[in-house]
Amino acid sequence: MNDLKFMVDQNVGKLTKWLRVMGYDTRLFNGKDDSHMVAIAVKEGRVLLTKDTQIMKRRVVTSGRLKAIFIETDEPEQQMCQVIESLNLDCWFRPFAICLECNQPLVERSRQEVKDLVPPYVFQTQEQYMECPVCHRIYWRGTHWQAMTKNLKKFLKCSTG
Ligand SMILES: [Zn+2]
Repeated sequence: MNDLKFMVDQNVGKLTKWLRVMGYDTRLFNGKDDSHMVAIAVKEGRVLLTKDTQIMKRRVVTSGRLKAIFIETDEPEQQMCQVIESLNLDCWFRPFAICLECNQPLVERSRQEVKDLVPPYVFQTQEQYMECPVCHRIYWRGTHWQAMTKNLKKFLKCSTG
């Protein structure tokens, strides 16, 4: 269950960031060709999240070859709750393990390694750092991290309710 990977249709694109925060490998499809999106999802074994009823009628979905979840609401938090509930997702799967921008696994960095890469006040107050190997964005346990954690706790309520 923990190995779940996702393909997010752009009509529910806000889910991408949350799933990555939780540590799930999540691809956002920005193209026009639904068939292409479906093909990638099947090939890479991703669960498809969409608001498109036509996709749900496709044979590849009705036959169960591709697992797809039809997202019912327009409200991003409720959408996230629906995904958590239907798949029994672990909100604390691997928090902050994946770059929110690139969907790449983050690499741990020591304080010395990031010395010249982060603002001085961050360097003075933070101990733990992660770096994205692709965009080289540095993540740390600052206010951003705290805000994210608060939101994950909010979603935690979905999984127990
Ligand atoms: Zn990145």
